[in-house]
Amino acid sequence: MELHDSISSIKGIGPKKAEALSKLNIKTLEDLIYFFPRDYEDRRCVKNISQLEEDETAVIRARVTLVVNDRYRKSRKQLLRLLVTDDTGSLEVVFFNAGYLTKSFKVGDEYVFYGKVSANFGKMQMVHPDFSRDDSVSGILPVYPLTKGITQREMRIWQKSAEELYCRAEEILSPGTIENNRLCSIEYALRNVHFPEEKQKLLEGKYRLVFDELLVMQTGLLAARTSSSKGGNGTAFSMEVSVQDYIDSLPYPLTDAQSRCVHEIIADLESGKAMNRLVQGDVGSGKTAVAEIAMYKAVKCGYQAVLMAPTEILAKQHYEGLKKSFAAHGIEVGFLSGTMKAAEKRENLRMLEDGTIQILIGTHAIIQSEVRFSRLGLVITDEQHRFGVKQRISLKEKGENPNVLVMTATPIPRTLAVILYGDLDVSVIDELPPGRQIIRTRSLTADQRGRCYDFVEKQLKQGRQAYVVTPLIEDSEVLDVKSAQQVAEELSQRFRRYKVALIHGAMKQSEKDSVMELFYRGEIDVLVATVVIEVGINVPNATVIVIENAERFGLAQLHQLRGRVGRGSFSSFCFLIRDGNSEIAKKRCEIMEASSDGFYIAEEDLKLRGPGEIFGTRQHGLPDLNIADLARHISILNVAKNEAKKIIEKDPQLKKTENQPLRRRVIRLFGEDFSLNL
Ligand code: ADP
Ligand code: MG
Repeated sequence: MELHDSISSIKGIGPKKAEALSKLNIKTLEDLIYFFPRDYEDRRCVKNISQLEEDETAVIRARVTLVVNDRYRKSRKQLLRLLVTDDTGSLEVVFFNAGYLTKSFKVGDEYVFYGKVSANFGKMQMVHPDFSRDDSVSGILPVYPLTKGITQREMRIWQKSAEELYCRAEEILSPGTIENNRLCSIEYALRNVHFPEEKQKLLEGKYRLVFDELLVMQTGLLAARTSSSKGGNGTAFSMEVSVQDYIDSLPYPLTDAQSRCVHEIIADLESGKAMNRLVQGDVGSGKTAVAEIAMYKAVKCGYQAVLMAPTEILAKQHYEGLKKSFAAHGIEVGFLSGTMKAAEKRENLRMLEDGTIQILIGTHAIIQSEVRFSRLGLVITDEQHRFGVKQRISLKEKGENPNVLVMTATPIPRTLAVILYGDLDVSVIDELPPGRQIIRTRSLTADQRGRCYDFVEKQLKQGRQAYVVTPLIEDSEVLDVKSAQQVAEELSQRFRRYKVALIHGAMKQSEKDSVMELFYRGEIDVLVATVVIEVGINVPNATVIVIENAERFGLAQLHQLRGRVGRGSFSSFCFLIRDGNSEIAKKRCEIMEASSDGFYIAEEDLKLRGPGEIFGTRQHGLPDLNIADLARHISILNVAKNEAKKIIEKDPQLKKTENQPLRRRVIRLFGEDFSLNL
């Protein structure tokens, strides 16, 4: 047997079985031994027959003392009955319509049986137990994920027969890496993951295989990234230029977390290597100020900076704010969006190209080819998870290897950020500015809805404003709008003395902007919205947010929405109205009630839904993993990432002979469609 032999070389695998196995991506023997159990069944405890109790599932070891093959002529049924005996008693074993098994049993020989014990007229029985002559049905047994046409028993037998190949599995790690990380050999790992003798060995083996898989993935991501960047050298910003005067001009002192983050960014900017940094900070943690300081540094050093935001509203808000702050320093800020008048746009493009505009704020209109900078040195994307990898790269290509800063609130748990952005450095703003209100959060059932709106009314009486978010209806913008309209109508009836307005995703940008503007100025009291208000909007007088059908929202999204309130000095409230009894929805609401820590919430979200559901890993260009679990193997991921870095630094394209096995595994994991440029 060879690793690359077809799976059909195993006895018992004909064309039909091979076809079924190919659905599990098993085509060669190597595929088979890298196809891992999803779980284990502990059948180590062998019981005496006299100890057996009805309904328990047990392992016994017993001699066959009698074999009877009954045939019922009328029903054409067959019944194979065995009497089996150990030192303590005897038991009947029954197989229906399994005459072919008759030959498997020899009177006087000992077998191991595993099955559920039942009582038939007071006699103990096992019906259709798993059995074998050796110990292969006892011990710790692997449980494989299966597909139609393959049984667990078959899979186990085939896996067992491929056991002799473990010693030939390719080693992808150097002896140094194995030693430094105290890993077991690949042979040991395969053996103990498929057929563990004991739990400890299983864990050691599994660690090794998870490590390998994560290392292969990280190596692939790093290799791809290295080949796409034009060498490491970026624009070095002068150390002589201080940003202190800008910091002093802010209306508040920076929080410690902001200062730390600013230091990390400035160090990157001065290093001469292109910055590649992700800033993660919860909603309201003050990421904008950090971005401003970085942009100030760029401009003072003679470069242009650009900030791209995912929506027009958000871009506008940034623009208005930044224009004011930078005017005081004599810095020219420009704006660009898709809905701009042609003449105005032309003018802006010209001023950008000749360098008059020093800082450009805008939507993804910025990445269009007609947008040219004179000396772009810093590229910032806000709420970066809203943009695809392609958009990010296009923006970057507008400069000569410019410094890159991406900012995001919670939806990317730290774990996934490490994966998605492989070699991105990460800064975390894990502190809110002082004096922030905790947003009191209550989870309500649908029948408490009335009381919830009573509360909203009280807030309105005090002059505050409210958001009401209506549910997302799967993939149907039309229905989203309808449900929002219904709620808006109902609330206009209810709050006759107040102004209720509607904003939804199907509205024209200009309409949305004017509604937002009115809400911002306090001329609308209750804003009923589909999720368009999700990011970035800042209305300090809004103190309540009601989320209807909260069960339809994910945790990260709920947290983002909640962040729309609590932005001023008033106490703020969030109501989650839950329809139906879904356990997961209930759990989400409980987590929201208990925590306001966006990172914690994001990690919990990951646990509840799994990374696949959040991201559809494929969609992000990530391969499906076989044994590693991103939600659980964070610490291994970090170690593997560091090893991958070392490997890629020495051999960026995996050309060295000793890296060939690794290279093959990388290509195998990512598939041909993933452009690795290896
Ligand atoms: P986000 O991280 O969600 O983008 P913003 O940058 O919009 O947060 O900041 C939210 C609010 O907090 C803004 O009104 C901003 O002026 C204010 N802010 C930022 N940093 C501080 C600080 N250090 N002290 C007080 N207020 C701050
Ligand atoms: Mg922001």
